[in-house]
Amino acid sequence: PNVIETRQIRKAYSMGDNVIWALKGVDVSIKAGEFVAVMGTSGSGKSTFMNMIGCLDTPSDGKILLNGEDVSHLDAAALAHIRNRYIGFVFQQFNLLPRTSALDNVALPLLYSEVPEREWQPRAKASLEQVGLGERLHNQPSQLSGGQQQRVAIARALVNNPLLILADEPTGALDTRTSFEIMALFQQLNDAGKTIVLVTHEPEIAAVAKRKLVFRDGELVEDYLNGHH
Ligand code: ADP
Ligand code: ADP
Repeated sequence: PNVIETRQIRKAYSMGDNVIWALKGVDVSIKAGEFVAVMGTSGSGKSTFMNMIGCLDTPSDGKILLNGEDVSHLDAAALAHIRNRYIGFVFQQFNLLPRTSALDNVALPLLYSEVPEREWQPRAKASLEQVGLGERLHNQPSQLSGGQQQRVAIARALVNNPLLILADEPTGALDTRTSFEIMALFQQLNDAGKTIVLVTHEPEIAAVAKRKLVFRDGELVEDYLNGHH
């Protein structure tokens, strides 16, 4: 099955007496091994789309299948379980725990998993090695550069071996050079088979992905492979 398949998803938000349709019928299929950039102006529906495919929220109507399983009607507890098991999240501001080592930050998702405790540290270490931070296991976020902190966050997203990595403006807080280092890391993870979906405002960043989705006013208006536009 596709890792993600959305069928005519729509999402309404109520603002007093008004209803805003943040998504107006979106069909997207994302296969295993894809590397997708999501673009669009502010208010176009990117975050709403990411929240839907990240199982943070459910659509008002339409269907979302995650690895073939319908997740469109699950309750909050079931969604939390699906997120923890199948999805790795990366954020613009890294969202690491301060005064906590890289190793413990990365091990955090394992606390809520079925992975036995004796495997937490070895798994977290392997994940940090995968992002090139094998020498920084015991450093706290304040002792690391922005790029290194984002690598820790990516290691945390990988530690559960998720089906899907979702990144919301992962280079938004980084300088240009570091942004491209982080994109090179995503590219390397994608080459190794990881499915990645990221939001960015920057065409140069989006160009690193293989496929681009562009939202406008709640609709998917472009969907194409980079280099084929
Ligand atoms: P983007 O991420 O592209 O900036 P969003 O998905 O955040 O777009 O927003 C799409 C539309 O939905 C916008 O009009 C926004 O104001 C509205 N919206 C988003 N979240 C909410 C919310 N929680 N309550 C009300 N309106 C919302
Ligand atoms: P320079 O490297 O020329 O100093 P930057 O790349 O640091 O310029 O970008 C300047 C501004 O753009 C900063 O405020 C930075 O946070 C922001 N910025 C950089 N990269 C991104 C990105 N990928 N997405 C959103 N904002 C970004």
